[in-house]
Amino acid sequence: MRVAIAELSHETNVFSSVPTDLAAFERSGIYRGTEVVEALRGTATTIAGFLDAAERQGFTVLPVFAVWATPSGMVTREAFEVLVGELVATLERMAPLDGVLLSLHGAMVAEHALDADGELLRRVRAVVGPDTPVVAVLDLHANISATMVEAADLLLGYDTYPHVDQRERGREAGELLVRLIQREIRPAKALVKPPMLPTSQNMTTDRDPMRALIARAHEFEALPGVLNVTVAGGFPPADVPEAGLSVLVTTDGDPGLAQALAEELARLAWERREGFLGGVSSWEEAAQAIREIRSGPLVLVDIADNPWTGGPGDSAELLRFLLTNGVREAALALIRDPEAVAACLAAGVGQRVELELGGKTDRLHGPPLPVRGYVRLLSDGRYRNRGPMHAGIVVDLGRTAVLVCDGVEVLVTERAESPIDLNVFRSHGIEPTERRVIALKGKGHFRAAFEPIAERVVLVEGPGITGSDLTRLPFRRIRRPIWPLDPLP
Ligand SMILES: [Zn+2]
Repeated sequence: MRVAIAELSHETNVFSSVPTDLAAFERSGIYRGTEVVEALRGTATTIAGFLDAAERQGFTVLPVFAVWATPSGMVTREAFEVLVGELVATLERMAPLDGVLLSLHGAMVAEHALDADGELLRRVRAVVGPDTPVVAVLDLHANISATMVEAADLLLGYDTYPHVDQRERGREAGELLVRLIQREIRPAKALVKPPMLPTSQNMTTDRDPMRALIARAHEFEALPGVLNVTVAGGFPPADVPEAGLSVLVTTDGDPGLAQALAEELARLAWERREGFLGGVSSWEEAAQAIREIRSGPLVLVDIADNPWTGGPGDSAELLRFLLTNGVREAALALIRDPEAVAACLAAGVGQRVELELGGKTDRLHGPPLPVRGYVRLLSDGRYRNRGPMHAGIVVDLGRTAVLVCDGVEVLVTERAESPIDLNVFRSHGIEPTERRVIALKGKGHFRAAFEPIAERVVLVEGPGITGSDLTRLPFRRIRRPIWPLDPLP
């Protein structure tokens, strides 16, 4: 069995002022051919799961590429056409193929293809033909479309947020693909999308309502004839008609059962919708929580400038808050500001600098913050995640300065990624368990590593495009009416 594998993944926040061009994908790193296997085997990723399945099931893997970019604005026409063009041309060259395994996000938006994952799958289908099975793994934040469902034989999404089951889902996809190749199963799919557009600060799968939805999905998956049940929470700032929560049920040749189960789960999601709201503290409440710290650390998270939801990562509001409140023994990851990094490099380790920090990408994330700081350390900004999420993956923040401002150690970086791993601090000489306050830009993924060390987690919301308040975003293309923006019966 010859099976092509590929990853092309982007979560697109169309409200970001930073377009996602080819250079953005190249900066995040493109692995091609055997590099895919060398770089990703054994990591906590979907591709590693495909490789596990190949070993267990005995199929031959033909790697196309693994490419992704940090969530940001609209994918340019050029980037989409070049990358999807390469994918399709490589699949054509690899023929004859017995199957295709894809790792996609499901919330990619391109300038000329709003349902970019659907368009990608359609083109893959066109090149491999109707008889070659195509199975794709999607993110839990996918905006699943009818086009995606139709173009693939089978789609399955992550069951966890933080996404710690990517490798497991990759394995499952590989096993299902083999059953498809051997004509053991005939997928019948039902996609149901209740009129819901939940944000993700309360979407983590260790708490309701998502915990209850995934638990029900697993009960359904145990029923005879059910191949997969996926609940995707969706990604509002993609601003596409498909944005929002999706339930996708795949059975073995029983469309009626698929439809009935998908409708039941969608009904449950609708009934529990209020549970997706809230969970964010005011800055006053955060200041009070800091006064009440016993041993720490208190993990303080600004959800409105989360790089992995498309935030530029350059809001200085967390630092402004910490300095205004005289908080010491604090560490902050991160503020993206290449100009400030250059100033720290020019000054050198052990020197003092005066800067206008952050707030430079656009006017949506607060103004720059004037600071005086001490340059404690300069690094290349590279470290390897210890996990659990993305264990083994190397992160590249670009050149990075540890700037100390009145007792707050700030990682000032050239690139923005969500700080989801303790090694973001440890690789910079900061032991997070020994700080009173750990300040992060994030939403849910930070919880996998930081919740176990936290005395308490407090979410706050500065200015920005990735927060919980959807009324801040100028939506143009989502379906209306939709909860929680519009009144619904
Ligand atoms: Zn996600």
